[in-house]
Amino acid sequence: MGLWAEGDDEKEIRHPAELSEAACLHHVRDRQLCKDVRSLVSGTRMARRAVLWGFRKPWLRHGKGPPWKAALLAPLPLRFLRSRWLEASCLVKLHARDVGGAKLQKAVKSWQMAGRDISARWHGFAIPSSKVLKILKSCSSGGLVELGAGVGYWATLLKRRGVDIAALDIDPPAPRARESSCNVNFGDASSLKKLSHQTLLLCMPPPGEASCADEALASFRGRHVAYVGEWRSGMTATESFHETLLSRYVLEHRVPLPCYPNMRVECFIFRSRGKKEGLAQHAQSELLTCDGCGATASLYFCPATRFWRLCSEACYDALLSEQASLLKMTSCGFGLPVPAWSSWEAYGWLAVEAASSQQWSALKRATPQPEIEGWQKTVGKNDMQNNARICRALVFLAFMLV
Ligand SMILES: [Zn+2]
Repeated sequence: MGLWAEGDDEKEIRHPAELSEAACLHHVRDRQLCKDVRSLVSGTRMARRAVLWGFRKPWLRHGKGPPWKAALLAPLPLRFLRSRWLEASCLVKLHARDVGGAKLQKAVKSWQMAGRDISARWHGFAIPSSKVLKILKSCSSGGLVELGAGVGYWATLLKRRGVDIAALDIDPPAPRARESSCNVNFGDASSLKKLSHQTLLLCMPPPGEASCADEALASFRGRHVAYVGEWRSGMTATESFHETLLSRYVLEHRVPLPCYPNMRVECFIFRSRGKKEGLAQHAQSELLTCDGCGATASLYFCPATRFWRLCSEACYDALLSEQASLLKMTSCGFGLPVPAWSSWEAYGWLAVEAASSQQWSALKRATPQPEIEGWQKTVGKNDMQNNARICRALVFLAFMLV
């Protein structure tokens, strides 16, 4: 990825996604292997999720033609995600018996996470889809400003689709030479007050930090807010940010995005609530519903995939085969056991202050942005816990010596 980024023109050095796609095309020429990997994503509800990755239906159903349509038109992070998944799934199928399950499983997990992290750094912490870019464009007639734009990947894709865009970040990268790229300028939440753009884009705002969440909403005067993240899980933005969105805005679009494993990222597009519009009491419940029965009761989430949100053991039982199917797909073909219902945790806002170190570590492992400030707090917390543990051990030792 580093080599690819060194090139002045992106075509000079082939992107790793292209190399991975070439490997996939070579593998899926084997008809039996192709059938085996297709079975991971077809025939269940999860096939719909696979379609989010842009796999072609004729390929999913019959193995006809290439796995994806017009690869060049898809965003690079999506190409990288799906081709690395397909490549790994082929290799698991081919070599699981020779290498040994546990060893290969660990290697595949590392392969997925390394791909996730590197792609997140060079492109963005969330993967855009053609659909979400189209919807964002339709909501950006008065111009769009992205705060916390990072390297400007999402902004560049929107600029190339004709969106009038300004990209801001407190640590902007060096200006790009290519005219079609969107340059990112220095700017924080207070900069929004001086801008007249009508749509604000916040992509994966850091957890617990008000600067890219509450302060941004307080400074923004436009009509639409597009928030890319996990809804009220603790992974992105702040709890009060979610509350403000529900009280001051009305949800217009909700677009599930292609995801790395262990995340459920969506794009929520809100418009500001008119003075005469009442508070939609049902808004929040509509955003968090049981994947089984659609109930708005208290939900629990799957500790292995972090995908499922279910209300009861009855819904858990009803979706057992779906859960097994998703687990097998996200682990590139390993048939892992579905976590017992008793191990599921209540779904809700997880703040670093209230979370156990185990809960916070699990949330941190699930995100490709653990180096940012919002996650660093956990280092301090773990250090404090370790220090407390060491102190207790020393006191105990001193007591024994006395
Ligand atoms: Zn349910």
